Amino acid sequence: MSLGSILNNFKRMKPLKIALQKKGRLSESSLRLLKKCDISISTNDRKLKALSKSFPLEVLFLRDDDIPQYVEQGVADIGVVGENIVVEKKNKVVNKMNLGFAQCRLSLAIPREIEYTGIQYFQNKTIATSYPTILNGFLRKNNISAEIEQIGGSVEIATGIGLADGILDIVSTGSTLVMNGLKEVEKVMESEALLIANPELSDEKNELLNQLLFRIKATRLGKNNKYILLNAPNDAVKTIANILPGMKSPTILPLAQEGWSSIHSVVQENDFWNVIDKLKQEGAEGILVIPIEKMVL
Ligand code: ATP
Ligand code: MG
Repeated sequence: MSLGSILNNFKRMKPLKIALQKKGRLSESSLRLLKKCDISISTNDRKLKALSKSFPLEVLFLRDDDIPQYVEQGVADIGVVGENIVVEKKNKVVNKMNLGFAQCRLSLAIPREIEYTGIQYFQNKTIATSYPTILNGFLRKNNISAEIEQIGGSVEIATGIGLADGILDIVSTGSTLVMNGLKEVEKVMESEALLIANPELSDEKNELLNQLLFRIKATRLGKNNKYILLNAPNDAVKTIANILPGMKSPTILPLAQEGWSSIHSVVQENDFWNVIDKLKQEGAEGILVIPIEKMVL
């Protein structure tokens, strides 16, 4: 196939439509994720839609609460949204991938000065939240009967103004709770950004989605691993190679200096400081650690 016909096919293809949060805690990370997959989007504050020039992808910029519904209806084929919203909204969508950002939890909190005696504290109390479905499920599971006061935002002030005895809200570091005189007493669920999809995508759209998932996996794997190079005396090469298994096995090259080799491999970021200590003990020198942009196993 000629380059011209490939480009023509590319243009004819119906783009995969992805819903992203227009403005907020998910928006920057979502665009950064696409950028790392070499999918550039020109953003403009007022635009609601943008088409990528480097991948058949159209972005719809929406409020995060609306994303699961638009994906269920097929207005968008896929979307990036917090698990908390997906669980709350109960739309018919499938989770294709946990994306590892926007990590937070939904927790119950009460005024700091009140002694918390356990979940029974909430019996016959009023709880304010923007997540009535999740709260209702949690209360039922724990046989607690409480009144749910649904509010759209600024939930953390609900106890201070006498609207409720406790709240269910998003917590990450807990500093907003502290600032509002609250303490976290029960974790109800953990959440992170998900890539959700309409369950009935056409074959053509599924093919594009798989290409996108492939790219995301490669960038996430790259991010979680580091390329490592080091010099070692030849008699330590075997031991060091065992510490650094690499993707298949490490690359070992002779150095110009007699009796020394250069070893190249891949280490997991989590493992990195452990491995470095061991390598030094075995006589490794000149250790370089380099970020990996993409990695395909
Ligand atoms: P919108 O205007 O789109 O409705 P919003 O105000 O409802 O925005 P944001 O505050 O931007 O929403 O949060 C979007 C999502 O990011 C939340 O649903 C949650 O999944 C995640 N999130 C919220 N707060 C935090 C936090 N402090 N740390 C990490 N993730 C968070
Ligand atoms: Mg919202």
